[in-house]
Amino acid sequence: MAIRKIREIGDEVLNKECRSVEKMTPHISELIDDMFETMYETNGVGLAAPQVGVLKRIVVIDVTGEDPLCLINPRIVETSGEQTGYEGCLSVPGKTGIVTRPSYVKCVALDRDMKPTEVEGTELLARCICHELDHLDGKLYVDLVEGELMDTASPDEDEE
Ligand SMILES: [Zn+2]
Repeated sequence: MAIRKIREIGDEVLNKECRSVEKMTPHISELIDDMFETMYETNGVGLAAPQVGVLKRIVVIDVTGEDPLCLINPRIVETSGEQTGYEGCLSVPGKTGIVTRPSYVKCVALDRDMKPTEVEGTELLARCICHELDHLDGKLYVDLVEGELMDTASPDEDEE
């Protein structure tokens, strides 16, 4: 495993649409391992493949530090409610802003074995799923921020 370099805002790879994963390969498996390691090393709660420069529809998420989730070709199929709160992104270091997201999402995806899986999330997990899936379509949370993007007071704040 290896820590990969995180691409930052301004890097055009972050604004591109990612391609679906057709089959699992040793190369993609290694990418997923590296994405988890990079996310944990940077204290993130989620990371999308384009953030490490790979235009594939893969995200890793772990909002508790104990629930690693790997979602391949993920798609949100249901949302409800609304939550408004601070959001950050490993690709936008040192910044945070207020974003409104659904308070519940249901997502279908493939797991690491390319088997269909379904994930439901509320609160932070729902926010994180929305944030990471946006990355796969080349979208950053900064475009959704209500008001101004602010400097983070704490470098330990959850970043996705
Ligand atoms: Zn992000």
